[in-house]
Amino acid sequence: MTTTESSTAQPPTGEAPAQQQDEAPASTPAPAARPGAQIGEREARKIAEEAREKEWRKPSFGKELFLGRFRLDLIDPHPQPSPEDRERGEAYLERLREYCATIDNSTIERDAQIPDEVIQGLRELGAFGMKIDTKYGGVGLTNYYYTKSLQIIGSANPALGAMISAHQSIGVPQPLKLFGTEEQKQKFLPRLAKGEISAFLLTEPDVGSDPARLGSTATPTEDGKAYLLNGVKLWATNGVVADQLVVMAMTPRGDGRKGGITAFVVEADSPGVTVERRNAFMGLRGLENSVTRFHDVRVPAENVIGGEGKGLKIALTTLNTGRLSLPAMCAAAGKHSVAAARDWAASRVQWGRPVARHEAIAVKLAYMTASTFAMEAVLDLCTMLADDERNDIRIEAAIAKLFASEVAWNIADQLVQIRGGRGYETAASLVARGERGIPAEQLLRDLRINRIFEGATEIMHLFIAREAVDQHLAVAGDIIDPDTAFGAKAKAAGKAGLFYAGWLPTLAVGKGQVPGSYADFGKLAGHVRFVERTSRRVARSTFYGMSRWQGRMEQKQAFLSRIVDIGAELFAMSACCVRAKMLRDGPEGAEAVELANLFCAQSRLRVKALLRGLWRNTDVADGRVARRLVDGDYAWLEQGVLPLDDTGPLVSEWSPGASSEKDTSRRIPLP
Ligand SMILES: Cc1cc2nc3c(=O)[nH]c(=O)nc-3n(C[C@H](O)[C@H](O)[C@H](O)COP(=O)(O)OP(=O)(O)OC[C@H]3O[C@@H](n4cnc5c(N)ncnc54)[C@H](O)[C@@H]3O)c2cc1C
Repeated sequence: MTTTESSTAQPPTGEAPAQQQDEAPASTPAPAARPGAQIGEREARKIAEEAREKEWRKPSFGKELFLGRFRLDLIDPHPQPSPEDRERGEAYLERLREYCATIDNSTIERDAQIPDEVIQGLRELGAFGMKIDTKYGGVGLTNYYYTKSLQIIGSANPALGAMISAHQSIGVPQPLKLFGTEEQKQKFLPRLAKGEISAFLLTEPDVGSDPARLGSTATPTEDGKAYLLNGVKLWATNGVVADQLVVMAMTPRGDGRKGGITAFVVEADSPGVTVERRNAFMGLRGLENSVTRFHDVRVPAENVIGGEGKGLKIALTTLNTGRLSLPAMCAAAGKHSVAAARDWAASRVQWGRPVARHEAIAVKLAYMTASTFAMEAVLDLCTMLADDERNDIRIEAAIAKLFASEVAWNIADQLVQIRGGRGYETAASLVARGERGIPAEQLLRDLRINRIFEGATEIMHLFIAREAVDQHLAVAGDIIDPDTAFGAKAKAAGKAGLFYAGWLPTLAVGKGQVPGSYADFGKLAGHVRFVERTSRRVARSTFYGMSRWQGRMEQKQAFLSRIVDIGAELFAMSACCVRAKMLRDGPEGAEAVELANLFCAQSRLRVKALLRGLWRNTDVADGRVARRLVDGDYAWLEQGVLPLDDTGPLVSEWSPGASSEKDTSRRIPLP
């Protein structure tokens, strides 16, 4: 059966769209039309394809899950650190814990600044070189111990965690580790390991999720020994205090040059680098986040990382493991939330009993506890998979980021609700009134950004969805490509037919249907069977979607995001079951099984709702209303209130010329 033929095929009962509501074109408005948009998308896809590591030797558990192949053997038994890594890692955590316990969160929150002595203390502990190899003076932690360290640092103050994470995961150390030459490593890594701070500068006022239109330029000098860098970069975390910058800029094509987005290491004190502003946010008040301007900044040619045109590949590959920092921060926030909610709900008596004993609060406490267990299960599994370099963990890391950033936000919101008015009150105000300074509202504010940076939730959905439909695109690519000639399409259809003839039957039956299978998981076996069955069902649904929408599938973002959310739930369930199995003979074994059991039961309800939503939804109506809204058809609805600020441009305009402002000091106080 070819995909073209199958577009009329009816899915089996239970998966069929009983009443198709989504016949119209894409439910989500297409990106604003601009010249070259189509080419940009294709180029981005090509670059993403090229970013795949050739040397991965093991399949990805997450990717297989989307294809209906539940490869439990890839994650069970749960991977473990080597004895040497464990010894080094545990000793480091001990030292870090001792130091971080001395950091005062309230001072950072009050002053909107991380004190110099805190940065110095972390420097002395080697925190700016945690992942840098020992041969360059770093601590040489594995991904697992690095994220455990981040949990400790982030729990002292989240802006501090963000500083270390931006420096270590996306700043200079990681791209150099992956793509740097030996000379570059020797030149920059020892300085970073000793405590120089780095930042990663990709975003620009006009360029956010879609970096293909980058405006910053790097023009080769006539002698070919350097580049002249020009442009403005927005929201660079650490940009105010950094010593070294990774800057993404466009190099020109032609004259034998491939050109394209290119990554440079730039010394922050180079002439022509101006920190124009320090930005202030809803949360992470201690963040040293900048607007940085480059005016004819001379960057030596030997500071190009990985070659011209490799910038996007470097950014994508760096984020493969770099993305694991954020779930670490989220899991830490989950632990704080659970502890604060427990304390309060157990002691606060209303209507004759502790609020924990009122069912409305009890269900929140249970959700928070089970979900925090799940966040840690997902994080630890992913980081340990990342520590085996044979593994392809792009999907796993993206799922961890997506899942943890959404869940942690819900958890902190529930903490605020459980603490009632005190949840909304600042810690400083609580302390001033003589109460314990639980920073619940700070937790919520600090967490919000995790759903936006390092790949916003919507972008994570698309990134993971691409993998979910990747196999289909690989075999059916030419069929759905509008530019492909008829002959090539026919050939591709034959190839796809062969693939689906072999693949579809494998999705019909599996171990999850066999009563008593996965018995080694004890009382969790039923959940493992559910994951296996649902994994096949998701793959079938993806196939039906693909058959139905073909070339438009990529624009069915609402459908794809549900597929991805189901996959993320299945992944989290798998991680919980495997973790509980690992822990069950230990001192907290019974509790771990209980929490895994509860998380899976709650997750199954969410999965069932998502499965229903695949075919019964308001996506088409939503798309129509969104288009009319943007056209101004509901402007009357906005009447009756005073306008929000409607002065000035929505996006700041900038010119590549020199800044009129002087170089600012390295510490800029916020109002
Ligand atoms: C506190 C903070 C720290 C940051 N640190 C750094 C840093 O260190 N270095 C750096 O380079 N950048 C940094 N950023 C920038 C951050 O990575 C961007 O904010 C992020 O990439 C999103 O870009 P944007 O804000 O321009 O949103 P846009 O790209 O303008 O997106 C707006 C909305 O549309 C959605 N959207 C966009 N495209 C699509 C699509 N194709 N389909 C569906 N939905 C879509 C987005 O998900 C989002 O919800 C930081 C930002 C903040 C606020």
